[in-house]
Amino acid sequence: MEDGLVNTSKSAVPAAYGSAQGDEMRGLRDALVMMVDDEPLNIEVTQVHLEEAGYTRFVSTDDPLQALELINARRPDVLLLDLMMHGMSGFEILERMGASNVLQDVPTIVLTSSTDPRTKLKALELGATDFLAKPVDSSELVLRLRNTLAAKAYRDRLANYDLLTGLPNRHTFMDRLEWALSHATRYRHMGAVLHVGLDDFKKINEALGPALGDAMLQQVANRLEHCLRATDTISRLDAAKQRPSLSRVSGDEFTILLPEVSRSEDAAQVADRVLAEIAAPVHLLEHEISVTCSIGITVFPDDGGERDNVLRNAGAAMHYAKACGKNAARFYSSDLNARALQKLNLTTQLRRALEREELVLHYQPKVDVASGRVVGAEALVRWQHPERGLIMPGEFVPLAEENGLITPLGEYVLRAACRQSAQWRAAGHYVPRISVNVSSQQFSQSNLVAVVEKALRDTGARAQDLTLELTEGSMMDNTERNVETLEQLKAIGANLSIDDFGTGFSSLSYLSRFPLDELKIDRSFVMQIVNPGDRCAIITAIIAMAHSLSLSVVAEGIETEAQLAFLAANACDEYQGYLKSRPVAADEFAARFLG
Ligand code: C2E
Ligand code: MG
Ligand code: MG
Repeated sequence: MEDGLVNTSKSAVPAAYGSAQGDEMRGLRDALVMMVDDEPLNIEVTQVHLEEAGYTRFVSTDDPLQALELINARRPDVLLLDLMMHGMSGFEILERMGASNVLQDVPTIVLTSSTDPRTKLKALELGATDFLAKPVDSSELVLRLRNTLAAKAYRDRLANYDLLTGLPNRHTFMDRLEWALSHATRYRHMGAVLHVGLDDFKKINEALGPALGDAMLQQVANRLEHCLRATDTISRLDAAKQRPSLSRVSGDEFTILLPEVSRSEDAAQVADRVLAEIAAPVHLLEHEISVTCSIGITVFPDDGGERDNVLRNAGAAMHYAKACGKNAARFYSSDLNARALQKLNLTTQLRRALEREELVLHYQPKVDVASGRVVGAEALVRWQHPERGLIMPGEFVPLAEENGLITPLGEYVLRAACRQSAQWRAAGHYVPRISVNVSSQQFSQSNLVAVVEKALRDTGARAQDLTLELTEGSMMDNTERNVETLEQLKAIGANLSIDDFGTGFSSLSYLSRFPLDELKIDRSFVMQIVNPGDRCAIITAIIAMAHSLSLSVVAEGIETEAQLAFLAANACDEYQGYLKSRPVAADEFAARFLG
């Protein structure tokens, strides 16, 4: 790895990082050397020796009483400490350093003119790393300093880096994050953390065994590094920006710290690149394996200023990305935790709702514009939740679409609607056509025709009393197959309708190829009619076009007389809307609308 390329730049990080990375000698000479001696001349001489050996960074004091404060403030990589000083002895300083969690790890070489072995022993007991006899011999000084720094660098490596991938570990990440947070707050700029989690890595690891699993993780780490290097090249055009850094924070999870971004979109761009890079297949021995990842993004200081919060938020966003189907990136938002929990609960409950038959159908009349008679009913699903009461489909249908529950749900609705139709007929009612919504997932299922046939057969409903409402989106891809499915449904005798027309990729040429009976104009167009005299060219055009294809036209969401008058004036066939009635329970529907 090129020196420091994917690590935070040296000038920008605390000295402790400088010695732990990159070209060893250069790293050592970048070390911050601190000298404490009550004789200023000694300090000067030592510094001259070290400068000759290439060292450049020094901090010193001839007042032992200030030593601890200075060590604390500057955190040197090594401390050269005189033992015999006025005011406070080197022993006392060592003792106090030993009592401090942060200072006890600073490697300390004591300088002493004493030849008494007990003096040396005591200093060692107090935590000194090495000795130098005074007067200092320059070559001995340089050698001892190098050894001490090399040992420290090795120790730092073990403590701060992950052995498998060579990346900084969680501990280092947290330190860097803390630093990036304070920098961002102080200089009022924005940063971001990307939490990258491999999708289903456990399965891969089980299938491949731990050795190949490790190899896979190494490859992933390489790819991530490569991504960041590319990012770095771009962001370094803006030289003032600090470099991104990559860490491995747990088994199959990595973090990317972008200490400085101009906009949150920058973080999204990095995420996009990572998604693409990781998804390319990996070659391991004779295996070709694909793995994807999910990424949670959080920006700081906006999303929360504490480093633990930042990591937790990024993690929550990553889990959300996984829950949304994986291989994707998601931004953290403050209500994400609450929402994620709520959604998870709702999904579990929805599964149970299907078994416990908590789903009910309400029916909204479809009205003939010319005569005002109710000629049909759209079945709209509701969830009679035991605690929350009636939940509308807007809340749970998209959820069901996300997790595959929409197919059993749709089937449930279809059967319930058919049963209702048969019941009304058996009761001697005039039977309206019942419309059932079919989601695109349900439509693309290979056995839809069989499912519809079975529902009709099992319930005794008639196909001509059933209308299936499909959406534009579900018909647009794989048109050949769709035409076939639609023709089979028509052959059974069912009616076919296209719902929410005008909101999707309405393509007239496609429309003419499908064997449809009805077109429903989306409510958003009807809403544009406010006054009786208003004109809406889109609606008139859709009606004309639909009629030319022999489709019956239904307008959705009619709430006012003005809207109804407009429809009557423009030869619209049917309407549906609160003006006539909201969707109501089956009993109420029968009582109000069926003779
Ligand atoms: P949709 O199929 O377009 O149904 C029409 C929606 O418009 C219904 O909302 C209905 O209550 C509402 N609506 C009707 N008239 C008016 C009006 O005058 N003003 C206003 N503001 N709204 C009106 P609902 O029942 O909340 O259903 C929403 C959507 O959920 C439906 O849109 C449909 O896409 C979906 N949905 C409902 N039931 C099912 C189902 O069983 N299966 C599937 N796949 N989707 C369903
Ligand atoms: Mg509908
Ligand atoms: Mg609709």
